[in-house]
Amino acid sequence: MATASGQYDHHTISAAVKKAHAAALNRAGGRNADYIPFLAEVPSDLCGVAVATADGAVFEAGDARFEFAIESISKVFTLALVTEEIGPQSVRSKVGANPTGLPYNSVIALELNHGKPMSPLVNAGAIATVSLVPADDTEARWSKILNGQSSFAGRPLQLSEALNTSEQSTNFHNRAIAWLLYSSGTLYCDPMDALDVYTRQCSTMISTVDLAKMGATLAAKGVNPFTGERVVSESNVRHILAQMMMEGLYIASGDFAYTVGLPGKSGVGGGVLAIAPGKLAIAGFAPPLNEAGNSVRGLAAVASVAKALDLNLFAG
Ligand code: GLU
Repeated sequence: MATASGQYDHHTISAAVKKAHAAALNRAGGRNADYIPFLAEVPSDLCGVAVATADGAVFEAGDARFEFAIESISKVFTLALVTEEIGPQSVRSKVGANPTGLPYNSVIALELNHGKPMSPLVNAGAIATVSLVPADDTEARWSKILNGQSSFAGRPLQLSEALNTSEQSTNFHNRAIAWLLYSSGTLYCDPMDALDVYTRQCSTMISTVDLAKMGATLAAKGVNPFTGERVVSESNVRHILAQMMMEGLYIASGDFAYTVGLPGKSGVGGGVLAIAPGKLAIAGFAPPLNEAGNSVRGLAAVASVAKALDLNLFAG
C-alpha cells in the first residue's frame, strides 16, 4: 500500500519480497554462463531477492547475502562516473544512447555503426566508457571505478582475483572489440589498458543486498540513502536510467520495458536490477541464464516485486 509520499509501508514490501523469492524458486530452466569458467562453477540453485528503498530500508529473502560477480551491471556505475566527469552530451556523442538490437558482445553492431558503440551498456560501449575515465594510468583508472562502485554500494567492494584471472585469460572476443574500437577512433586510451580495467570492473563481487543498495542510490536521485553520500548529480541520473531502459536487459530490453516497465540492468553473473525512480530498487540473483543472457529466476523475482508494488512507470 502506498503512503501519500509515494513510499510503501514496510510490511507490504517485505511480503512482496518473500512472495517474489517463492515465485522465483518455482521457475526452472536456464544455464550458468560458461564462457567465463569461474561462472560455470557457481551453484545453480542459489537465489536471492532484495529491495532497498530511497529512504534507506532493506528487505531481503533467500541467498541475498551470497556474493556473486557483478559482470555487466558494472557498466551502469562506470557510466555514472564518466557522465559526471565528461558530461551527458559528450557521453551521447562519443558512445551513444540507442539500443543496438544485437547481442551485447556484437562485432557486427560496431561495423554497422562505423565503430560507434551506440550504448554504454554493451561490451563495446562499456570498454569505450572505461577509456573515457580521466586517469593518468591503468591503476588510477581502476581505482576510480572501484571507488565509484563502492560509493554506490555504501561499503568497500572488492575484486575477486579468481574471477578476474578467469576472465582475463579467456576474454579474446572482447580484445577484438577493443582493437576494432581503437581502429575506428572511438577508444580514448590504450586498448589493452581499457580492456584490462573493463575486465576488472566485471570481476567485482557483490551480494543481492549490495546490488539493491547500488540501485537505491539511483532511485534516490544520486544520493546513497545509507551513507548520505552524493554519488551522482541529480540531473545525470535521468540519462543513466534512460540508457538502462534502452539496453539494460540485452536484446530483451524491449520485452522488459513492455512487461515490467522499469529501467533495469542484468549481468551474466546472474544479477538483475530494476529501478523505480524516487521509490526503490529491486535486485534479484540466480546463476542460470536464458537465451538472451538474463537470469531466469532473477528476472522472475524482479518482475514479481514490481508487479506486487505496482511500479510500472508507464502505468500513469
Ligand atoms: N565480463 C563479461 C563480458 O564482457 C560481462 C558480460 C555481461 O555480463 O553481459 O563478456
